[in-house]
Amino acid sequence: MRYISAGQYYKELFGQKVYRIALDAGCTCPNRDGTLGYGGCIFCSGSGSGEFASSRELPVADQLMEAKAKVSAKYTGGKYIAYFQNFTNTYGDEETLRHKYEETLSDPEVVGISIATRPDCISEKMYGILGQLAERTYLWVELGLQTIHEESAKWMRRGYSLPVFEEALARLSSLPGNLSTIVHVIMDLPCETKEQMLETISYCAHLPIHGIKIANLNILKNTDLAVEYMKNPFPLMEREEYSAIVAEAIERLRPDMVVYRLTGDGAKRDLIAPLWVADKRKTRNAIDAYFREHDVVQGRYY
Ligand code: SF4
Repeated sequence: MRYISAGQYYKELFGQKVYRIALDAGCTCPNRDGTLGYGGCIFCSGSGSGEFASSRELPVADQLMEAKAKVSAKYTGGKYIAYFQNFTNTYGDEETLRHKYEETLSDPEVVGISIATRPDCISEKMYGILGQLAERTYLWVELGLQTIHEESAKWMRRGYSLPVFEEALARLSSLPGNLSTIVHVIMDLPCETKEQMLETISYCAHLPIHGIKIANLNILKNTDLAVEYMKNPFPLMEREEYSAIVAEAIERLRPDMVVYRLTGDGAKRDLIAPLWVADKRKTRNAIDAYFREHDVVQGRYY
């Protein structure tokens, strides 16, 4: 085992394969509704960096049912994680959101909830709700950090500073129950050197977090990043180069951290570059092959 994948972790926790179902809580984001800006993060797609959920017009229970029916041909394990993925899923009326989170738990096949959000969008009341949820089920809160470097954060228009992230993480870590935090990082930002990217990884390895999602920068249609890229194409990593930097990242992680993702995950139909990422299987195989050939082991240089 070269690193702890989500599949291995779920198997250990639940004794079997678990399927994550993307749901849409109907939220927006302060980077999009005018509170901080209108354009969103530079790479964010119109669907709020989550392309796989059902229609937000449907109640969450119906979205869940629809998604379960869709995957029934390939998954019959009967254990699901309700994944509130797109936009900022703690941003909005807290009671409405509480109801949506809890609605998923009325399905006995839902064994946990994953909530993707921003560290500057968790209100006092929401911390309370998350703590209560974590006492009832497994709860993962995903924070989109992407980088620790403030200049890069400005470039991507993230809209909050590192101390804001640290404060939210400290609050989340102090909550009761089964709450785990996952942090998202991007490994090939054009404004960063390789050393800077790896500094972000080393920083994450020393945080009280449970897991990490590592992605390459996807340039998607209808994003400001796509406009910038078309005007002024900048070099993006090839699969081989990306595999090498992911390997270095894995070796710097804490040995107990779960690695939920190793590449970007944008919708194929919207992908402009890099095109190699569209072939997920090939990309995963190439990364695995690289790990084998170079004897990559998670935590070696932690
Ligand atoms: S915080 Fe997330 S949803 Fe909001 S603009 Fe950035 S990527 Fe999009």
